[in-house]
Amino acid sequence: MHIDARQLDNNTLIEGDICIIGAGAAGISMALSLENTALKVVLLEGGGMEYDDRVQELYNGKITGHPYYPMKASRLHYFGGSTGHWGGMCSTFDEIDFEKRDWVENSGWPITLKDISPFYPKAHEILDLGPFEWEAEYWLKQNAAYKLLPVEENKLWSKLWHFSPPTRFGTKYRDAVVNAKNIHLYTYANVVDIVATENVNSITQVTIKNYAGKEHTVKAKRYVLACCSIQTSRLLLASNKQAPRGLGNDNDLVGRYFMEHTELKTGELWLNHNDPLLFYKMDDKTKIRAELAISPEKQRELQVMNCSISLMPLALAKNAIPSVKIWSQEDPRKALDTFHKYSNLDKRNYIQKLFTKGFYQSYGLYTRSEQQPNPDSRIVLSEEKDELGVPRANLHWALSPMDKKTVFTINKLLGQQIGAARLGRVKIADFLLDNDPQLPDYTSGGWHHMGTTRMHEDPKKGVVDANCKIHGIDNLYVAGSSCFTTGGAVNPTLTCVAFSLRVADHLKKLG
Ligand SMILES: Cc1cc2nc3c(=O)[nH]c(=O)nc-3n(C[C@H](O)[C@H](O)[C@H](O)COP(=O)(O)OP(=O)(O)OC[C@H]3O[C@@H](n4cnc5c(N)ncnc54)[C@H](O)[C@@H]3O)c2cc1C
Repeated sequence: MHIDARQLDNNTLIEGDICIIGAGAAGISMALSLENTALKVVLLEGGGMEYDDRVQELYNGKITGHPYYPMKASRLHYFGGSTGHWGGMCSTFDEIDFEKRDWVENSGWPITLKDISPFYPKAHEILDLGPFEWEAEYWLKQNAAYKLLPVEENKLWSKLWHFSPPTRFGTKYRDAVVNAKNIHLYTYANVVDIVATENVNSITQVTIKNYAGKEHTVKAKRYVLACCSIQTSRLLLASNKQAPRGLGNDNDLVGRYFMEHTELKTGELWLNHNDPLLFYKMDDKTKIRAELAISPEKQRELQVMNCSISLMPLALAKNAIPSVKIWSQEDPRKALDTFHKYSNLDKRNYIQKLFTKGFYQSYGLYTRSEQQPNPDSRIVLSEEKDELGVPRANLHWALSPMDKKTVFTINKLLGQQIGAARLGRVKIADFLLDNDPQLPDYTSGGWHHMGTTRMHEDPKKGVVDANCKIHGIDNLYVAGSSCFTTGGAVNPTLTCVAFSLRVADHLKKLG
């Protein structure tokens, strides 16, 4: 069922068993996995079924710290959420990503990869990825032209990526959500306040508002925040009537440890001979490719974080502008247009065709790296309020010297491996060789918002427990990448969806 909350009588009371706040990748996956249960699911979406600039404006806020994409443009505020403009690149976390690594400050989850793995196959299906095959061996058999770069696996390994079409949740899952008997979707239902009991150990209701001037109340047994990292922490901080520092924030952790993946061009690979390196290029048919990832052994030995390198024909990479410089428009619709213009798709397609024919001897190296969890990298409330009266969220993105060390290390390792195999040479970018401990200003993020309600078994070190329940509050959960304790080196959506399926599974058991 779909109800536009603007059309309801003012002060309507909506009741259900589970109230999910946010209908993006996490919220929709979760709601649909609760379909055909005895639970009445109330799914609250702040926006409408289509883009609405007045609703999008609620996301506006200020950026301080390391340069980042405009707040208004880096997430989408309508049914389907940011899958309305995501790129569809997917890969899985590694075992080491969950471990407490002595050399990575603030690392260590209370769960392991084994707790998430059972949910990857369904998440894979939801995102329309191909066969559930993540080993290089499988794919090498599918195409005789695929071959591995002869590097030592215990140093650098070929990590698999799958490409989603990309699935737009707002179109693909709209009918399924609207027609599900036990899912009650409310659009234009922006949650502006979460109300707790006086002793703040339980949530009693949430307040929704829209620009039609309507205000309603939602009551449920359990509540799940699925608004993505920035809005989830904003809402917790702004819900401060019973808890002056915000909900779940007794230990000043909500909003902290905002993480991204650093992404930038870090060098060039010059081969002795032309080689199309097809296994490392996304193929339209197989929809997979490999990246060169640093092995867990080398992460331990060299005391760096997880990261990987992808290859782009140098003819393309040479003039590429960092994403953070081109994705600078406040309006997300214009941001996408500008991005496509500068990405020069015609030229890209032409060069990709040549690339397929094997004309390429030189490649740009692009490194994507895990970011060290940094408490100073955070979301804070602004003095300024949005149209619905909620303080805006400001982002201070802060990087650490460990981020640069990691990026340098994998590029050096690749250079050593390419040299030892007598394949060619690697030229490391100058900025990696200078004395500045920080990555340069043009280091981009991948639009991957993680952290801000991090998972830890100790309430003094994390906001949610191993079941994604907020410490100290018996019926408030978080679904999505804001729970990530560390960010791994892969794009987050596959794991974000797997996580929300895991929360749904837990709630089903509670009944
Ligand atoms: C340009 C771009 C490219 C990307 N490319 C990739 C990629 O290639 N691979 C990858 O893995 N990830 C990618 N991502 C990230 C991906 O989009 C997110 O990881 C994913 O959408 C997160 O899902 P989510 O449900 O947590 O958040 P969202 O999809 O952002 O959904 C949150 C939902 O909550 C709603 N909401 C927010 N506040 C409220 C409120 N107060 N009340 C009610 N509802 C509210 C929003 O309207 C929205 O529908 C990309 C993102 C962008 C912007």
